[in-house]
Amino acid sequence: MYFHPVEDPDTGQIGYLLADATEQKAVVIDLPPRSTELLLALLAERRLSLTHVLRTHLHPGEPMNCAALSALTGAVPVTPEGAPVPADCTTRVQAARDGDHIVFGQQVLQVLATPGHTPHCVSYLWRDRLFCGDALDLGSCADAGENADPGRMFDTLSGRLFLLPENTLLFPAHPLGGRRVALVGEQRLRTASLLAGSRDAFITEMLSRRTTARRRAHPSSAGRRY
Ligand SMILES: [Zn+2]
Repeated sequence: MYFHPVEDPDTGQIGYLLADATEQKAVVIDLPPRSTELLLALLAERRLSLTHVLRTHLHPGEPMNCAALSALTGAVPVTPEGAPVPADCTTRVQAARDGDHIVFGQQVLQVLATPGHTPHCVSYLWRDRLFCGDALDLGSCADAGENADPGRMFDTLSGRLFLLPENTLLFPAHPLGGRRVALVGEQRLRTASLLAGSRDAFITEMLSRRTTARRRAHPSSAGRRY
């Protein structure tokens, strides 16, 4: 097995290269911008064949950054079902639906629908690791401003992510406070008070935090985009 994070120092975005060492097939999840050459070098170094370029979610107008990669490797772009198709995607896009399995060599990724941060977020479960994009910020709830739906975020956190085994490792698309990995059990504890009340109370709290954050940081901004 091979597992290699790919981080963009400018945006802090983190992608993940996963590979099956037996059949030398690989996938990449949430490849950061300007990382194509690095990824190609990593693939060449290990003689890996890239089968899929996966995204956990896309924001409106956000590029996929995979056109060159797909053309060079033949890898299939995969985006959540219903997500906007990026304008720079020149090849057929495969939709990731809840319960789907994506196979690379002898390895399998399971697709979990985890909406909230955007309407069409998915996470990818691989063994004891969950690649959750921005569905769960480490230490707080992911809020993408007008894009986010706190009610669905509540459902995803309480009814999905926190039902996973407590030792499941969470790998996000952005670090928070320098952290790049967390345990489901740890995050469940950290957000317990926020999720202890009703769904409506959670929505009220998240909307209140959004308003406060907007006033403090960017009075005219719609909030954090990623
Ligand atoms: Zn995002």
